[in-house]
Amino acid sequence: MQLLTRRSLLAMLAVTAFSGTTCRRLTAQTSPESTHCHTLVIGAGAAGLAAAQTLQDADCSVVVLEARDRIGGRVHTDYDFASHPVEYGAEFLHGENIVTWDWVRRYRMATLPAFDYYRHQFAYANQALLPFRQWSTIPGLDALDLLNGSPIDTLIANWIDAGKPDVSLAQFLELHQIEWSPEVRRLVDHSLSGSYAANLDQLGVYGLMETTYAGDGDRYFRLQKGYSHLLEQFAAGLDIRYATPVTRISWSSSGVQVQTAADQTYTAQQVVITLPLALLKANTVEFVPPLPEAKLKAIQGLGAGHITKLILKFDQPWWPSELESCLTPLDTQFWWRPGWQRSNEAPVLTAFTGAKGADTLGALGRDGAIQTGLQHLEQMFEKPLTARLTDARFVDWQADPYARMAYSYVPVDGVGLRSQLAQPVDRTLFFAGEATHLTRAATVHGALESGIRAAQELLSTPAHRAI
Ligand SMILES: Cc1cc2nc3c(=O)[nH]c(=O)nc-3n(C[C@H](O)[C@H](O)[C@H](O)COP(=O)(O)OP(=O)(O)OC[C@H]3O[C@@H](n4cnc5c(N)ncnc54)[C@H](O)[C@@H]3O)c2cc1C
Repeated sequence: MQLLTRRSLLAMLAVTAFSGTTCRRLTAQTSPESTHCHTLVIGAGAAGLAAAQTLQDADCSVVVLEARDRIGGRVHTDYDFASHPVEYGAEFLHGENIVTWDWVRRYRMATLPAFDYYRHQFAYANQALLPFRQWSTIPGLDALDLLNGSPIDTLIANWIDAGKPDVSLAQFLELHQIEWSPEVRRLVDHSLSGSYAANLDQLGVYGLMETTYAGDGDRYFRLQKGYSHLLEQFAAGLDIRYATPVTRISWSSSGVQVQTAADQTYTAQQVVITLPLALLKANTVEFVPPLPEAKLKAIQGLGAGHITKLILKFDQPWWPSELESCLTPLDTQFWWRPGWQRSNEAPVLTAFTGAKGADTLGALGRDGAIQTGLQHLEQMFEKPLTARLTDARFVDWQADPYARMAYSYVPVDGVGLRSQLAQPVDRTLFFAGEATHLTRAATVHGALESGIRAAQELLSTPAHRAI
């Protein structure tokens, strides 16, 4: 996910309808113990739903196995907390050109612009709440524009062109003697923590140049009815088995057998796997035989980034009406108004905290995170607020058993591993999910595209695979 814009923080501040058909429709037999279908999809997040829909459109029989009792995965809208939808996971459409718009338009969904005027972006710096025109002139803060044609961007490009070794962004800055004040460094680190769910010392410079988001556009939007509403449109008409965690995938070139926690067995010719990277790393699903070495290397070599969201509701709005968001060197990192631009905006603020900051808040637990959030707001806005809090949510994605992460990043020497993760195995196992997208990882649209790509790969395997 991009915090402000991934390529430009200061600026902030295809589906090709598949026509090939190597599948023939089968009727799924649904006895509780054993079900046969042509294709299984594991996970009903953005990638899984896009894969399943693409396969179904190509006349394949598809069953989606989903561990949770809901669709969406890392897309999860709360419709009860406030007078408007509040996002626990993905919140923004990152760009005016992304594939998601095909569906937004098809389903006639309304959107709301976000982060489109500099004057609404604040930063807490030099112990004061500063509007954009003031904080953007602080020496060093132009580094927030790190990857958008800044001098650092050019240095990284030259480094890569010269074939120099991959290093972390922190090492890169040190090697080039780029030094900032501790506060500026924290602000830069916090903006990267949100964008990449990783700190300066975790991100490889080659990886930053791989994940380009080229062509996506710089404008940001929320969905008026929430992100889950969009994915519900995808899910309509699909055969989804809820509360069905997969525990084992036994595979060979002649097909797959998938075991679930309730000891059901599903058999199919092929399976599309959309498990979040952190779950693959932790071997939460056993592969029999184990995945090939190259796949394991990709799984272990990519980074599973961390994010928490702290969502606080107050009795009344008490912040300046022109404030949309506030970047801070304090551990909570970045605050925004989830109801921005809504006529029925509730007095709610979200703290979006990444990487080590997310771990710090996660270690405090819900109550500790709420207390910390309130303290930071009181410090930044110089008013007592505790008595004004009426409700709160703390969403720790790392503690979620079916995610254990927020989104993936590319650490040092990780370049190329996303492609390796995406590679099918033995024309039986197909891989999708945000971490498999070379250039648009960590986004909903990247996940959607990866699902379509995996489905198309499956559909273009030789016809002898169809029974
Ligand atoms: C806090 C946060 C903020 C974000 N903000 C944005 C944003 O603003 N814009 C944006 O574009 N992106 C954003 N993202 C990223 C985006 O949400 C993800 O990239 C995308 O949703 C991932 O989709 P996916 O299908 O790859 O994975 P998931 O959505 O994680 O789907 C995987 C599915 O597999 C299921 N599963 C797990 N284990 C099993 C099992 N054993 N058996 C069966 N099913 C299983 C899970 O329950 C889940 O439904 C954000 C993410 C987070 C966490």
